[in-house]
Amino acid sequence: MHGLTEEQRLMRQSCRAFVDRVVTPFIRQNWQREWVMDPDQRLPRSILEEADKLGIRTLGVPEAYGGVQLDPTNEVRSFAIIAEEIARGDSGLADKLVQNWKVSVLLRNLAPRHLQERWFPRLVADPGFLMAHCLTEPRGASDRWLPYDVPAAAMQTRAVLAGAEWVINGRKHFISNGYDASLYVVYANTDPSVGMTKGTSSFLVPRDTPGLTVTRCNETIGCRFMNNGEIVFEDCRVPRDHLLVEREALSKAGVYFRPGKIIQAAKNLGVGTAAFERTSDYVQTYVQGGRILIKHQAVALRLAEMATKLAAVRALLWQAASAVDEAAPDAEILCNMVKLFASEEIVKVAQHALELHGGNGAMLDFGIEKLYRDAAIFLHMDATTDISRFKITKALFPATAGAYAGEG
Ligand SMILES: Cc1cc2nc3c(=O)[nH]c(=O)nc-3n(C[C@H](O)[C@H](O)[C@H](O)COP(=O)(O)OP(=O)(O)OC[C@H]3O[C@@H](n4cnc5c(N)ncnc54)[C@H](O)[C@@H]3O)c2cc1C
Repeated sequence: MHGLTEEQRLMRQSCRAFVDRVVTPFIRQNWQREWVMDPDQRLPRSILEEADKLGIRTLGVPEAYGGVQLDPTNEVRSFAIIAEEIARGDSGLADKLVQNWKVSVLLRNLAPRHLQERWFPRLVADPGFLMAHCLTEPRGASDRWLPYDVPAAAMQTRAVLAGAEWVINGRKHFISNGYDASLYVVYANTDPSVGMTKGTSSFLVPRDTPGLTVTRCNETIGCRFMNNGEIVFEDCRVPRDHLLVEREALSKAGVYFRPGKIIQAAKNLGVGTAAFERTSDYVQTYVQGGRILIKHQAVALRLAEMATKLAAVRALLWQAASAVDEAAPDAEILCNMVKLFASEEIVKVAQHALELHGGNGAMLDFGIEKLYRDAAIFLHMDATTDISRFKITKALFPATAGAYAGEG
């Protein structure tokens, strides 16, 4: 990649060494581990501890609280570089870590000082401390991304102010780190008479708050080392000062979602890079029909296509990440474009990898099918591909584009 600063080059180097020394050997030697049905036993704590030693668990936390604050002029590009490297080793591990970065950026921007003082040091002190960001509900996600801004489509999870406390009732599902987080950012409807951009508030909810119950860990097809969960709130009371943003929480969440989409695309690129590296080794060593696979023309064509797709995703990622760092006017559009483009292109890269490995591509212990499963997840994380397309068209043509929801 061109244009990296010295700091970024060094970070990439140490992340790559961590992945090659710790993560990849672990995954290759313990391929059954992702299928352990006790979510607590899947990823050994030692891997998070190793990540912690590198400082990549607490990126985004202000230095004043012991975190690793990157150069603010290129922070999002640095996130992209590190997320790609970690996901090259394991996308689920990357998922686990990046939620901490994304929520830290949100808290740094939106949480009152006393909450930052309370929670950042705890995050820094405990290598197992994870955070989660809870928007999606059984009756609504795509509508929220658009957003379809009418009361009928607003959040079902409600929060009502009762004296000195907010009382939260509702349910969130499909939440990254939802199963094992220590701290949750929760979005809830505080004014059902208006659309979601004007009536949604966000709260900080510690895991041990009475009324918060983690009801399940979802068994996903990919990124399985991140424990995706479902959380129920029943008369869950948080102090009044745990409010992060009143009423306009969705509009303010851009500080989370813009870097978030860059990080998604970067993790996705890491999965594609791993597929390419494994495949290029394979086709240059595996002999079929008396010659190594790469000598077969069809194999050469597929390999070229994989490399070209990766280069295209990387270029758009860098453009979009730079736009976010520079707060450029087209940053929002580029974030949606790269998240969408990466998700569709990397699935094709992973499919080539699967096919070029022939029968071995279908074997769990060979590890290539895992990359295909990991790639498939990105199609619907942070909005589905169709909804992302709507968002791009709505942003490009605000005066004439449709609502793409309801009856309109
Ligand atoms: C691994 C994983 C991690 C996730 N992590 C989080 C997290 O940390 N926090 C969080 O809040 N959420 C999280 N999600 C949820 C994710 O954001 C949603 O799954 C996604 O936004 C899609 O919403 P949905 O599943 O409700 O699909 P639905 O909204 O039910 O959509 C189903 C289908 O209908 C289509 N559709 C729906 N509405 C329209 C429309 N108006 N026009 C055209 N087509 C439409 C969609 O494109 C899709 O094809 C995660 C999901 C996954 C899979």
